[in-house]
Amino acid sequence: SHSTDHTDYRNTLDRIFNDISHQPLQGHAADYIPELAKVNPSQFGISLCHSSGEVYNVGDAQTKFSIQSIVKVFSLALAYRLKGEALWQRLGVEPSGGAFNSLALLEFEQGIPRNPFINAGALVIADILVSHWVNPKYTLLAFVRQLANTPSIDFNLSVAASEAMHGHRNAALVQLMKSFGNIHNDPRDVLDMYFHICSIEMTCQELAQAFLVFAHGGQHPITGETMLSLSQTKRMNALMQTCGFYDESGDYSFRVGLPGKSGVGGGVAAVHPGHYSVAVWSPPLNAKGNSARGIAALEQLTTQTGVSIF
Ligand code: GLN
Repeated sequence: SHSTDHTDYRNTLDRIFNDISHQPLQGHAADYIPELAKVNPSQFGISLCHSSGEVYNVGDAQTKFSIQSIVKVFSLALAYRLKGEALWQRLGVEPSGGAFNSLALLEFEQGIPRNPFINAGALVIADILVSHWVNPKYTLLAFVRQLANTPSIDFNLSVAASEAMHGHRNAALVQLMKSFGNIHNDPRDVLDMYFHICSIEMTCQELAQAFLVFAHGGQHPITGETMLSLSQTKRMNALMQTCGFYDESGDYSFRVGLPGKSGVGGGVAAVHPGHYSVAVWSPPLNAKGNSARGIAALEQLTTQTGVSIF
């Protein structure tokens, strides 16, 4: 191994995978849209991309799945490149303490979402991207392909269509924020953008590859191009640490100790700045809507290696 640290990631990941695979599945895969409910819940994969260039895969690390809210990290990065610190006039950087799709705080906070990773915040980010590009969903898709160095990454159009059919709460969030003036475009265009980008499918390996930029101070791991400034990268990692798991962000931080982001498709992606990025996928979700095995695997990773950002 050419790793710059002395951890044996191959053995560590194999051990974690075998240990968790032998535990009974807990929780249920998301079933609010039929497409997500069709996924075989026993699939389980882990991919770790080390900053040395080594990639370690276990289990279903090369199976595509719906990244869902993990895309909020990519859409934030794209909007942050565009707007810089002016972004924070339209959304906050504080944990919400509420569910990912909550409307509750918006009414009292003049339509300013607490952070970019709850749905309200991601919808404001979608609105910003809709304002700037003619084909914003394709611009975002191209950005994700570039980060993951994988041109085949694409939307799942039936997931996007199904989400639109069932997306009443997201529609309510957009309408409520529009009433406060914090959505500038036609709500239908903002929702179309949001539902499509949530439907993007990636493998654990592609996700880990795409997250490596956050472990590398904003430099693209392959081309060396500056994708985000050092300060922007620090702030994105801080937001993932404090807000990446909704009202489980504190418990996740406590157990794992790495910036990360979950999605309702059962994916979790995390980074150890300067060391590695890692993605785990297991569809069954816990009560907070985060992958139960995903969090368990990351907890074991930082526990067994003895290294986290803390
Ligand atoms: N598209 C999903 C929604 O808005 C994303 C939610 C999630 O992954 N937590 O309901």
